[in-house]
Amino acid sequence: MSDCLFCKINNGDISADILYQDDDVTVFKDVSPQAPVHFLVIPKKHITTLNDLESDDEALIGKMMIAAKNAAADLGIAESGFRTTMNCNSDGGQSVYHIHLHVLGGRQMNWPPG
Ligand code: 5GP
Ligand code: ZN
Repeated sequence: MSDCLFCKINNGDISADILYQDDDVTVFKDVSPQAPVHFLVIPKKHITTLNDLESDDEALIGKMMIAAKNAAADLGIAESGFRTTMNCNSDGGQSVYHIHLHVLGGRQMNWPPG
């Protein structure tokens, strides 16, 4: 999608601190980190919200989770632990409408989230 911020990060039109990229996913640091470690995992394919997932996306979502845990290990938060979150629509707190998995670590997370 031409006017999507995360599509632009995927194709290099907007720069980001990229941790990992392959044919299916991009992993990059969040520009406004909410924890000592905070990165995002996005699919190369534009999917607007979790509500728009199709059954064909099953493997892609799995690849996002594998990319998340690999990057968490690379950044040294696998053993201490981390939080993964995918916000959906307004009540979920979604502000960028291209699905993204937040991965946060390096501090104690609270529950329930705010
Ligand atoms: P949401 O609120 O949709 O769940 O999360 C969007 C996330 O994208 C936020 O944590 C925000 O800081 C991050 N973000 C927004 N714009 C940019 C950007 O241009 N670059 C990067 N690296 N992160 C961004
Ligand atoms: Zn997009």
